[in-house]
Amino acid sequence: MQLMVTHALILILTALSLVLSPGSATFSQTPQTTRPADFHVDFFPVAPYHIGDVLSARVTYTGLAEIGGVEIDLALVDRPDQVLGTTTFSSYNRQAVFYWFFDTHETKPGFLDFRFSLPARGISWTQGVHLLPDSGSRDTAWAVSHSQCCTLHYLTGTDAEADLEQITETVEERSAIALSQFAAAGVFDESPLTDPLSIVLIPVVVGHGGFATHEAVLTYAEDNWTGIEFGILAHHEMVHVIDRLVNTEGPRPAIFVEGLAVYLSGGHYREGDPLQRAAALLALDMYLPLSQIVNNFYAAQHEIGYMQAAALVAYLDQLWGWETFINFYFNLPEGPSDAEIISTALAARFGLDLAVLEQDFITYLEALEPDPAVEADVRLTVEAYDMLRHYQTLLIPSAHFRTAWWPPLSAMREGSIVGDYGYREKAPLNVIIEHIFIEVHAAFAAKDYQGLESALGRINTILGEIENKDANRSHYAIGWPIKRNPVPHNRP
Ligand SMILES: [Zn+2]
Repeated sequence: MQLMVTHALILILTALSLVLSPGSATFSQTPQTTRPADFHVDFFPVAPYHIGDVLSARVTYTGLAEIGGVEIDLALVDRPDQVLGTTTFSSYNRQAVFYWFFDTHETKPGFLDFRFSLPARGISWTQGVHLLPDSGSRDTAWAVSHSQCCTLHYLTGTDAEADLEQITETVEERSAIALSQFAAAGVFDESPLTDPLSIVLIPVVVGHGGFATHEAVLTYAEDNWTGIEFGILAHHEMVHVIDRLVNTEGPRPAIFVEGLAVYLSGGHYREGDPLQRAAALLALDMYLPLSQIVNNFYAAQHEIGYMQAAALVAYLDQLWGWETFINFYFNLPEGPSDAEIISTALAARFGLDLAVLEQDFITYLEALEPDPAVEADVRLTVEAYDMLRHYQTLLIPSAHFRTAWWPPLSAMREGSIVGDYGYREKAPLNVIIEHIFIEVHAAFAAKDYQGLESALGRINTILGEIENKDANRSHYAIGWPIKRNPVPHNRP
């Protein structure tokens, strides 16, 4: 019904356009300058943009049409024939990314307008950025330091450069432990690392403060507001890199990938006994059935998923022994889903499936009696990181792991591009909220759960006001300038 009405409307509009515009062929080709509502453009590095930035653009399509493989190109509005870049939409995330398509070094300050075109769809629009003068203080550059285990990439003038000696000690220590943990399962006698582990230290927070590709990328900053202990984070990401290097045959279900990294590094964010923490989840009625999380692990509540994954690996280590677990994980058969992969392997080797294994796992956890402090820590960890992600979604989506801007670092080093990780300017509001997060993490360390709840309450109030848009409070009213209390940070 609705379709017919729409169709009739189109006919009327077409007829009208013929009447109004005798040259109807040119009418339909009049360049559209307003971006269609179902396309969204983000420019990077994030605003404010300065002369000297090398710009990237990410176009996201939210409409209903099939967009995978559709070509899009980009040019300066005043030089439309000179295409700056052409790319296609991914059918997976429906995004088209132009990496570093425009170097602003030779540009004058002012508004810089670009024209985006999808020739096959007859769609184009203009959109741009306001370019501020060179701030004069952006002179950081990539630098590299080599140690026995690792190649450390960092940016000059950052906290990482100042603490390089301690960082090197920490990564040497952690990589030796990580390698020995795999070696203990008889996976290799000699280190499989033919090349040193590549570690990149960035001063800004992206995601939860660390991520791994073929190299480990770690946030290192004195005012790191993610509260992650640097040694644990380095260890976690190193386990991922080694796992990928050694465990190359067959699938690697995310629940084991992350469970292994958390278990071997001693905790998630901070030290913590994985079985005690999973028992606390059960006691708090926060435990998520494995059937709900195993096939879409990264969509599950993040902290709960990771805590349970680590506990499952810890439990299997106790039950089977380390060598058997690693052998099991390294030799999983292909299958249509992670749940089926794990169940098939369990059936072949132990005559049970994931559901039966989970029953035994729960019975084991129920027998543990978690400390009330562990329960408080677990409950507030979930709350604090939910709030941290809520803050990212509302105010810095380029840092939220679902919408993060994390361009490939090796290409940036080759091109001497630093902006995307070097500078993410903070408004006073960001500084205020992030400072309270630092208080939150200090309260975790001090087991001050009352102080912790009150700090989280303060952040919640500010975020609530922003979300409801019912208050346009000055940052002076919220607490700017902040008093910089000395709080423990996460240096190694
Ligand atoms: Zn991980």
